[in-house]
Amino acid sequence: MYQTFIGLEVHIHLLTKTKVFCGCRSAFGDEPNTNICPVCMGYPGVMPALNIEAMRMGCLVARALNCRIPEKTWFERKQYFYPDMPKNYQISQFASPLGQEGWVNIDGGGMNRKVRIRECHLEEDAGKMIHTGTVSLLDYNRAGVSLLEIVTEPDMESGEEAELFVQQLRRTVRYLGVCDGNMEEGSLRADANVSINTAGKGLGRKVEIKNLNSSRFIKLGLNYEIKRQAAMLDAGKTIIQETRLWNENRDETAPMRTKENAQDYRYFPEPDLPVFAPDAAFLRSVDAGLVELPLPRAARVKAEYYLNDEQAGLICEEKAVADYYESAVSIACELGLEQKDAAVRIANRLLSDVKHILSRDKIDAADIGSIKLTPRRLAELTALIARGTTSNKNAKQTLEAVFSEDKDPAQIVKERGWEQINDPAVISEAVKKVWGSEAKTVEDARAAIEAGNQKKLKSLTAYLVGKTLACTGGRAAPEIVGQQLDALLYEGRKK
Ligand code: ADP
Ligand code: ZN
Ligand code: MG
Repeated sequence: MYQTFIGLEVHIHLLTKTKVFCGCRSAFGDEPNTNICPVCMGYPGVMPALNIEAMRMGCLVARALNCRIPEKTWFERKQYFYPDMPKNYQISQFASPLGQEGWVNIDGGGMNRKVRIRECHLEEDAGKMIHTGTVSLLDYNRAGVSLLEIVTEPDMESGEEAELFVQQLRRTVRYLGVCDGNMEEGSLRADANVSINTAGKGLGRKVEIKNLNSSRFIKLGLNYEIKRQAAMLDAGKTIIQETRLWNENRDETAPMRTKENAQDYRYFPEPDLPVFAPDAAFLRSVDAGLVELPLPRAARVKAEYYLNDEQAGLICEEKAVADYYESAVSIACELGLEQKDAAVRIANRLLSDVKHILSRDKIDAADIGSIKLTPRRLAELTALIARGTTSNKNAKQTLEAVFSEDKDPAQIVKERGWEQINDPAVISEAVKKVWGSEAKTVEDARAAIEAGNQKKLKSLTAYLVGKTLACTGGRAAPEIVGQQLDALLYEGRKK
């Protein structure tokens, strides 16, 4: 059997307002070549200046990945020619990257593994080439945008693990607010390296797969490559060290080029940028950005709110949703609900009706903090239902009305006459009325009781409950209606 080794190189666009070494705007989708200046165009004689916010965000990711931030970090020039890189070198980090020797645990879907992080380094992105038939166009808006590269050790063993790593990293950088994680727009890109070897023999000869713009392609590309390499070894062939591209239309990888060695880049220290030595104040500003990360938060939320793994995972997928949930539960408790009751009711409501409205109205879950249904309103609605002021059935319509009318749930329930009737005397009147007009059904129901026909009894009772509810405009509490009907049906009969 073969052993598999997978290492990832993930690039993330940092959400700095400006580029990493000049003051140009950093944005996706702007008119081509509008966010450019002599610095990011690499004109001779211009001087780069470090965007400290990019350094702070990079160090924040490094800390979240348990990396060591060195006493001194600096930049190197990585030389190569590419039409979308006007300087013919990229300012990157080589000898002392801002984050070193970290680790992260990946956990989920039955997988659990510690993945070592080799380094995190800050660099500038290149521009973009757009090929249109016979001409190629160049857009330099992206040239000089802050890019953080996260490099793992070859610690993963399957496409599934690599997919999980990327999903978890994506959630983490979104929690930290340093990257939007949009893989389609290229804000998060991964190259996957994979080799296989006879078990116990150490690393094999690696192949790098590029062009993986979704976590699913990472999984598919790697698993394809693992199979391809195994078949080659089985056939006694040697694997060529090369870069391959994932072809999403054919579900396979294809050769792109044989890989150059690190020396080819002729790294040397960037003479125009000073060495950066993080001082105590800078490190404090980095730590101020640390938040409870997705995995520990999901574990805590699960335990604290009596949820299952799936619910906790869904709620903690997005920081804004987790914040929203915890805030709604805490308000519901202030309103007098018991913690477990509030936690479970709100989780169910959030993951069904609220989630449905968000996706139907195309509201990004990250924007849940600004919807009309505030955590307080969701808590209030939950309290109304828990206390029987309105029925569970009306909850959905009330939610809709909160969204469309921007009013508090109590007001909507009142205005619409959706208050539930809980008074047994009022309900009893309606029950008696139906009892009188549905003599045949009552008779059949009693016969079903005699015959022990539970199925028939159930459907007949449901019919009578429905009639009674209709009689009260749908406002009678169904449980009380059911109890009263039962009492009448079994009356004068030994149970
Ligand atoms: P390169 O010099 O080609 O960039 P590196 O040694 O810098 O290669 O490693 C780049 C990535 O490839 C890292 O994520 C690393 O874990 C992974 N990697 C390196 N060697 C192997 C190997 N033999 N098999 C699988 N992955 C590897
Ligand atoms: Zn610029
Ligand atoms: Mg390398």
